[in-house]
Amino acid sequence: MSRVRVVNLHKRFDKTIAVDGISFEVGDGEFVVLLGPSGCGKTTTLRCIAGLETPDKGEIYIGDKLVNDLPPKDRDIAMVFQSYALYPHMTVYDNLAFPLKMKKYPKQEIDKRVREVSKLLRIEELLDRRPRQLSGGQQQRVALGRALVRNPRVWLMDEPLSNLDAKLRVYMRAELKRLQRDLGITTIYVTHDQAEAMAMADRIAVMNQGKILQYAPPHEVFERPANIFVAGFLGSPPMNFVEANVVEKDSKLILDAGIFQYTLPEEIAKLVREQAKGDKVVIGFRPEHMILSIEKQPDSVFQADVYVIEPMGSNYIVDLKAGEYLMKAIVPITTKLPSLGEKVWVGFLLEKVHLFDAKTEMAIF
Ligand code: ATP
Repeated sequence: MSRVRVVNLHKRFDKTIAVDGISFEVGDGEFVVLLGPSGCGKTTTLRCIAGLETPDKGEIYIGDKLVNDLPPKDRDIAMVFQSYALYPHMTVYDNLAFPLKMKKYPKQEIDKRVREVSKLLRIEELLDRRPRQLSGGQQQRVALGRALVRNPRVWLMDEPLSNLDAKLRVYMRAELKRLQRDLGITTIYVTHDQAEAMAMADRIAVMNQGKILQYAPPHEVFERPANIFVAGFLGSPPMNFVEANVVEKDSKLILDAGIFQYTLPEEIAKLVREQAKGDKVVIGFRPEHMILSIEKQPDSVFQADVYVIEPMGSNYIVDLKAGEYLMKAIVPITTKLPSLGEKVWVGFLLEKVHLFDAKTEMAIF
């Protein structure tokens, strides 16, 4: 069993709280991504699991064993970090072979594995070179290769694809995912790239300011974000947010957002009555769930000024201005739009709308 369990982990550097009491479990063979903005504590969490940082508080288990006091080399993990620390005096071949030599693998087996991995990473022609004769992206692939040649219990990866060009990155992320699945190696992978996280993860831990804000499969963090931060972090362009007062009138619940009033259907009104802590909510709707039309339609909710129109292949991204709000909508290129500066009617798919409590920022609906 090579599940990983992190319990109430705390780590601070002087006054900076890097990791603020996080707990999560990674199942045997699972691929978990730690996702979040720069400085949210992803790398520190990974380094604590690796044994490169000592937690101030909390426990780390690999398998069922508490590893807090084990040095990194005894944790049976392989790590790939953004800075790729290759041995400068060794060739690429020897860099790849090194972890296996240390484990006293037979020479033939070493050769077989080095060649398999270098083929996968497309570095077969570079085996005789030394690290300084390689580009950043090539060095990163060698570093990745060094983790892949072994079959450890756990892979820990910190932005291992960040130095590759866009095309190679997309190729490598699919290969890496397939390999991880084939070998069934429990993996914790750090990135701030949401597309990478969505594509690779079985589960995503969305982090901010040293805390995990949601831990769930990719479709769930995207479709049912637990709070405003997660809702705004995933999705490109991000979700639009509008603040609204909750007003009770004739036993109906109305959201008054200034730019529009919206009477809630009874089943949603019930949730708001039960869960809202104050009289303000935040309405969230994704750009791709907005409907734009020149003429008012039954589902039109408010009017906005068309600010910018960006053609993006089969879609337009339309920047809109309504009251104090700037929003983005994604609509099919076939949509009839008014000219810049003119008004357009905006509607949204109610079943795709999110409501958050303005005070706690937690999802209501
Ligand atoms: P990035 O995506 O930029 O790598 P991250 O989410 O991995 O960010 P961490 O590297 O874990 O974040 O850093 C968390 C916080 O701890 C940051 O404020 C960082 O400046 C601080 N920090 C990390 N390592 C150290 C250190 N060795 N000494 C002092 N502060 C540190």
